[in-house]
Amino acid sequence: LQLRLESVDHASTQVIKCRAAVAWEPTAALMMEEIEVAPPQEGEIRIKVVATGVCHTDLYHLFEGKDKRGFPTVLGHEGAGVVESVGPGVTDFKPGDKVIPLFLSQCGECKFCKCPKTNLCDRNWSSKYHDIMSDPTTRFTCRDRPILQFMGTSTFSEYTVINQIAVAKIDDDAPLERVCLLGCGISTGYGAAVNTAGVTPGSVCAVFGLGAVGLAAVMGCKNAGASRIFAVDINEQKFEKAKVFGATDFLNPKAYNKPISEVLAEMTNGGVDFSLECVGNTEVMRTALESCVKGWGVSVLVGWTDVKDFSARPIQLISGKTWKGSLFGGFKSKDSVPNLVCDYMTGKIKLDEFITHKMSLEQVNDAINLMKTGQCIRCILNISK
Ligand code: NAD
Ligand code: ZN
Repeated sequence: LQLRLESVDHASTQVIKCRAAVAWEPTAALMMEEIEVAPPQEGEIRIKVVATGVCHTDLYHLFEGKDKRGFPTVLGHEGAGVVESVGPGVTDFKPGDKVIPLFLSQCGECKFCKCPKTNLCDRNWSSKYHDIMSDPTTRFTCRDRPILQFMGTSTFSEYTVINQIAVAKIDDDAPLERVCLLGCGISTGYGAAVNTAGVTPGSVCAVFGLGAVGLAAVMGCKNAGASRIFAVDINEQKFEKAKVFGATDFLNPKAYNKPISEVLAEMTNGGVDFSLECVGNTEVMRTALESCVKGWGVSVLVGWTDVKDFSARPIQLISGKTWKGSLFGGFKSKDSVPNLVCDYMTGKIKLDEFITHKMSLEQVNDAINLMKTGQCIRCILNISK
């Protein structure tokens, strides 16, 4: 069946065959395959993916989490696209709408969605399947095998099917090859600063890890009025970009022969007001906590890891510090992403400056390698026109 979508009138009843990068097993290179994408079912939307970023969480699943039950899968969770067709019962979306897939759903009905204190949604894959990082239900098959939809999104594919509770409709004029970044990294880092940490005007902040997530956290600290923002990374090539987003001081922990928390304490008269860990390393999480000032310091875990325990001395918290974390920057996803798109279009937040490379879907392994070796901030894959 060589049927291309463009020639199909009632596409929602048809299986689409399209290109996707399949991760058959942990640590292996992704393979370009033809996959079958089933029609959207009740409450679901089939999306033509236009562009996607590559985020460290894709690399985490492939190289760090490595849970075999989470494979084969199609990675990618930082995409944007256009609605191709909708399943029964979908009234808020129509073919042609510009959308951003959400790795964190917002059903609006569960006790978490109803509570203003959190952005977690009980219907999200992460409620039950955080270890395999996808719901076992999938609309993808390849070579007669079901292929998982990583984080419910799978944007390393020309088409994907997502429940409407995990799709945000955005402005018709939004440039998809840029706003795709709001599907994960930028919203995550920015929200971690403005929502989870609650950075206050005049405060002193430290951001550990200057990938897109960390740089977005720097941008959040700056927009919230921080007076001093320490940018901490072991890769000094990241410092120039951090300056663009508002960092004022730059520290490479490897350049000191004492813990960076001590260096920060000396430079700030006791520690920073807010610290954000944007690496996904339990040692750095501890260091970020230890870098906070006693009494009121707040440290936020943003980096994603679930392979080992972390540790800290109890006195760190007894002394009045707060240790917290968030998923997707604490933003209620469906409500917030359209607003963040507007914030970009009106110049309140930056996106263009995060993009350092552009490639095709076929080059996805090169894009992964760029991130692995610390040579990019965000590489955008152009999936389709
Ligand atoms: P990235 O790989 O682009 O950036 C990570 C940065 O950390 C790099 O610049 C690297 O040099 C730096 N780094 C590594 N080891 C360090 C150390 N010991 N000290 C200081 N810096 C160090 O990754 P990214 O895409 O920006 O993602 C960052 C983290 O955020 C990842 O763990 C990712 O999985 C996580 N994440 C979490 C969420 C969430 O909702 N909580 C969402 C997206 C991403
Ligand atoms: Zn991500």
